[in-house]
Amino acid sequence: MRRDRPPLFAASRFSLTWNVAVVGGGAAIAWSIYYLIRVPWVDATGKFVRPGLTGALALILIAVVISELRPLVWAGTSADSEESGLSLSSGLVLASLFIWGPAIGILLQAIATLTGELVKRKAPWRVAFNVGQYVLCVVAAALLVEVMRPGGVSPHSPMGHAAGAASLTAAAILWMLPAWIVYHLMNLTLVAGVAPISVKFRESFFDEFWFYTLTTLAVLVMSAVVVALAIDDSWPFIVLMAIPTYAVYRASLLSWRLHDMAHRDQLTGLPNRRALEIDLARAVAHSSDTGLGCALLLLDLNEFKEVNDTLGHPAGDELLKIVSERAQRVLRPGDTLVRLGGDEFAVVMLEIPTSSDAAEVAQRLRSVISEPARIGNLVLSVGASVGVATYPGDAKDQRTLLQRADVAMYRAKANRSGVEIYQASEDPNSADRLAIRLAFREALMNGELFLHFQPQFELATGAVCGIEGLLRWTHEGRQVPPSEFIAIAAQSELSSRLTDYVLTRALGEARDLWSRDIKLPVSMNISMGELSARYPRGQDLVGRVLAGLRENALPPWALRLEVAGDRLLGDETRSMATLQGLAESGVFAALDDFGTGAASLAMLRQMPLAEVKIDRSLIARLTTDAKELTMVRAIIEIAHGLELRVVAEGVENQATSDLLLQMGCDVAQGFHFAPVLSSVDLRTWLAERPAGSVAQVRPLRAVGGAGSSG
Ligand code: C2E
Ligand code: CA
Ligand code: CA
Repeated sequence: MRRDRPPLFAASRFSLTWNVAVVGGGAAIAWSIYYLIRVPWVDATGKFVRPGLTGALALILIAVVISELRPLVWAGTSADSEESGLSLSSGLVLASLFIWGPAIGILLQAIATLTGELVKRKAPWRVAFNVGQYVLCVVAAALLVEVMRPGGVSPHSPMGHAAGAASLTAAAILWMLPAWIVYHLMNLTLVAGVAPISVKFRESFFDEFWFYTLTTLAVLVMSAVVVALAIDDSWPFIVLMAIPTYAVYRASLLSWRLHDMAHRDQLTGLPNRRALEIDLARAVAHSSDTGLGCALLLLDLNEFKEVNDTLGHPAGDELLKIVSERAQRVLRPGDTLVRLGGDEFAVVMLEIPTSSDAAEVAQRLRSVISEPARIGNLVLSVGASVGVATYPGDAKDQRTLLQRADVAMYRAKANRSGVEIYQASEDPNSADRLAIRLAFREALMNGELFLHFQPQFELATGAVCGIEGLLRWTHEGRQVPPSEFIAIAAQSELSSRLTDYVLTRALGEARDLWSRDIKLPVSMNISMGELSARYPRGQDLVGRVLAGLRENALPPWALRLEVAGDRLLGDETRSMATLQGLAESGVFAALDDFGTGAASLAMLRQMPLAEVKIDRSLIARLTTDAKELTMVRAIIEIAHGLELRVVAEGVENQATSDLLLQMGCDVAQGFHFAPVLSSVDLRTWLAERPAGSVAQVRPLRAVGGAGSSG
């Protein structure tokens, strides 16, 4: 699944870094060749002056080439990354450097890198850069070895060991460590000076510090031992060394896979949101280096929620896979497609001259995505909305870039225009909506949302007669109002998951209460649209609720629904059927927020209801506004006429409570009676109530709707 994505280069073609690496590396290679030619290989008698050099060197050369063909990968780096930690071959090079001197070290490194780069089929200018880059790393390490070598600078030559190999002692192995550090620092300097790589490096370095350190030491020690064995011509031992080497190789591969899993979306195999941060940082740094802009596209499927709701989650998953494959096909090799979660994708594009170039790609994406797709035995076509923002044109940093692309995407969705380029003048707010949306998705998956509870009271007796579940979510220290995240969920495929979650929590709470013989019904909030959603395995909400009640050994009247009357979403007929099914099973519904916007009088008749909740906006003005008083009185009368129980919500003072009682309202809820309590606080609160102040639950009777004749 992985695409071969050309890595970002700090050194773009013919840049200063490129020249330094190529010219410097080239000079070092030339010097090494010259040095080896100039230095006598045989003495006057025709005897080799370098014992162990020929066979051992050939052996090491073979080992270096093999290890480049199967490079060792580190956690936190990908195979195509420019900075892959200490490869086995660099260990061998460092050991050879120590034993035979810089010329051989440099040439070995050049051969190793050349092999590796040719295997990866890189462009010639990149190969040249990489060879130069690694050769310079060896040069840096060589300088250190020469200066710090025990016993000082080698006496034989300014830079080499003409007389043969240095002996390999434990101290020598220790000296390889600083040499390795210098080698690595040089490497980082050359490929980087670049933030993104160091971000990535730092991340993986600290995440897996011990693994990294241990593996590095293992590689260094093993390389030194292999070279020492080679000098001694100990072939059988060298062959045996393949075993620990392979073990280290496998361990690092495993660790890399784990890391890869965390940065990859499991469904589509695409990089995920975490990976996006790294990719964006790279892209932004690349832009600032090269002066060429980059672009971020945020893409959201238009009808994904409907596909999920009506065909089920497996169909939705199938669609996402098709979409991601198609999208990848139209992107250039250097562009990155990321799945942010749900039906949201992002594309990071490098070297994009203007935002209209990016918009062109966005159009192409849209058209391939909307081609008909076969899912099961259905052929369907989904649209997409794409928002485009560019760096540095629209945003000066990564975070803002994300926000801006999100603003543009929302506009594309709202205008149904398909593709929108970010325009500062039309930015409605700079809130970090995208971040909230993504964080919410994660919070939901990780169970970081809490259902809190507010008691409801019989006005006539003052007894507690029910509790309403209300969601609470704290994100980055802020209590995000439910209205905000419920709206987020409603626009995405998350809403059925959220309903499921709330249902589970509400039933859990009910079981807990009922097991302590506090037989109060727990109400959960649900939107009209959610009532028509389909669940995995073809289950509908009715099946879901009944199964949940069974599992928790609860009677149907332990749960109630508060349905908010948004008429825009979902399939109304289905929603009604769901309510009907629930009512027939004994799970009753209240019409929530009555008296405001969406809920109509007609709904009172059409829906199988047991209760009406008068919206808190009406209740709030009850004592001060005669018109509201008239309205509330009328609502109570109508509801009672339809045999519905009336609940007033948002009761904040005694005067309101008194008025409501006078008008015949049945139930009240509000800060005057009780606050919204966490599950734990609710327990304490209930325990402190005097005996007999909890009403015995009575099953309600649903009226209205298709099945209300009897
Ligand atoms: P709602 O169903 O009308 O919930 C009642 C809201 O009134 C709650 O706000 C509650 O905290 C607040 N409230 C309670 N007593 C008083 C009072 O005396 N005075 C005033 N001014 N307010 C009071 P909250 O928790 O912010 O919820 C807002 C809305 O979010 C809810 O309105 C409901 O529509 C939605 N919501 C909350 N939890 C869920 C849920 O689990 N699922 C769904 N679908 N919607 C939920
Ligand atoms: Ca409610
Ligand atoms: Ca309400």
